[in-house]
Amino acid sequence: MDSVGVAAAPDAGPGPAWQSKCPWGAPNTTSISCSLADVMSEQLAKELQLEEENAAFPEVVAVAEGPFITGENIDTSSDLMLAQMLQMEFDREYDAQLRREEKKINGDSKVSISFENYRKVHPYDSDSSEDEVDWQDTRHDPYRADKPTTTPRRGFIGKGKDITTKHDEVVCGRKNTARMENFAPEFQVGDGIGMDLKLSNQVFNALKQHAYSEERRSARLHEKKEHSTAEKAVDPKTRLLLYKMVNAGMLETITGCISTGKESVVFHAYGGKSAAEDKVIPPECAIKVFKTTLNEFKNRDKYIKDDYRFKDRFSKLNPRKIIRMWAEKEMHNLTRMQNAGIPCPEVVTLKKHVLVMSFIGQDQVPAPKLKDVTLNSEDMKKAYYQILHMMQQLYKECNLVHADLSEYNMLWHDGKVWLIDVSQSVEPTHPHGLEFLFRDCRNVSQFFQKGGVAEVLNERELFNAVSGLNITADNEVDFQAEIEALEKMNEDHVQNHGKKLSMFSSDGDPPIYDE
Ligand code: ADP
Ligand code: MN
Repeated sequence: MDSVGVAAAPDAGPGPAWQSKCPWGAPNTTSISCSLADVMSEQLAKELQLEEENAAFPEVVAVAEGPFITGENIDTSSDLMLAQMLQMEFDREYDAQLRREEKKINGDSKVSISFENYRKVHPYDSDSSEDEVDWQDTRHDPYRADKPTTTPRRGFIGKGKDITTKHDEVVCGRKNTARMENFAPEFQVGDGIGMDLKLSNQVFNALKQHAYSEERRSARLHEKKEHSTAEKAVDPKTRLLLYKMVNAGMLETITGCISTGKESVVFHAYGGKSAAEDKVIPPECAIKVFKTTLNEFKNRDKYIKDDYRFKDRFSKLNPRKIIRMWAEKEMHNLTRMQNAGIPCPEVVTLKKHVLVMSFIGQDQVPAPKLKDVTLNSEDMKKAYYQILHMMQQLYKECNLVHADLSEYNMLWHDGKVWLIDVSQSVEPTHPHGLEFLFRDCRNVSQFFQKGGVAEVLNERELFNAVSGLNITADNEVDFQAEIEALEKMNEDHVQNHGKKLSMFSSDGDPPIYDE
């Protein structure tokens, strides 16, 4: 395969190339013979331009003009893609052969030789089915809480003089180090977590304080960056996935890009026909492609890693799969919301890191975000009560906290508010769940206060109304301290008893606000 690119030039002149030219081989003199007129001609200019553009593929995907993936242009639009597919095919065959030889050599021997390092398709890149879990076939929601691991109730481990209690300095220090994982995802805690580091309570508390002020600062910065210009849209592998969806007839046309964010790119598509009789594909779909460039997601690891629904699976995954889990998580969260009757996109299908859902909007025009729409005071008030109700449903019925709720992630469509962007949503008992909820409440309260809704609950009242908790502190600092105390209590409870406190869930019936 290697020789393809360096095949001898057919026109190398008399004698072998190595005789005549410099020791590094003949410079490639594939002269384009043409007259001055040719050079001047527009035709040539166009050709050269085209060549250049082709070479530049897959970095850029044109999105503005018309559909870029339709049933017609599937197989031939990119030589590079074809070449990559062929190469992949070849590599797979090669690996299969290798595996056969490996088996033959090793036989039943107890000591075996591994050919692993000679494989062409690195397991990391492998799309082979053995390590692939096709979540779209799963009705089961793996993110639903199950029982976390228990530590002995008696509060100590060991026997005789080897006994260690939970107040032990070393154990305490290690626990503090582990708790660093609970800091905001953007907060860099270094490699301490992986090492056997023991943090004293004093150091831990100082660090924690710093982490929280950092979190607030970066939240402000984040907002600005999010709306910067579009960048690389999709990589060849993603493109292939999209092709397949069109090819299978599930989507009719992918028309273009609606949004490019830090972690995802969203496309609009016209729906096609479903393979399953009983399933109807919405006439218009939104395709959310979670970016496979890992940088952004690395920072978000902790949202998932901390989520104990996830812990077991997390350690076994490579970064590419973790990104798929975001898509997967969004799917399951949307499904929960749909079941509770909350207006949100309906899941159509999930393939790896690509989530297809119904499109909120019409004729390729997405519904405006709440921040971009001007509502009259009546609609504004209506929207507020609707959101209050949705937040309660989300908490009570879906057992979820949105965790990124703001006027940026709510769309106004058909005279009501639709919730989107729920890949980061967590259960209320997540170590930071209540803090996320409080942040959501603050965003909502502030938005509607500015919007002139007189009835607006302040963020603390809203928090209590949604969670059913009754935190009485009358200022933000104390309120937040109580929230953190609750979270910590819950965390300790998990450590000691292996179960979450029920106080976060549906014990105290919160009043349902229904206009
Ligand atoms: P991000 O993580 O990039 O913020 P979002 O899920 O919020 O991802 O999607 C980004 C934007 O794409 C949204 O603000 C919205 O304008 C648009 N969008 C996403 N999903 C849909 C949908 N189902 N229907 C219409 N527009 C959508
Ligand atoms: Mn968003």
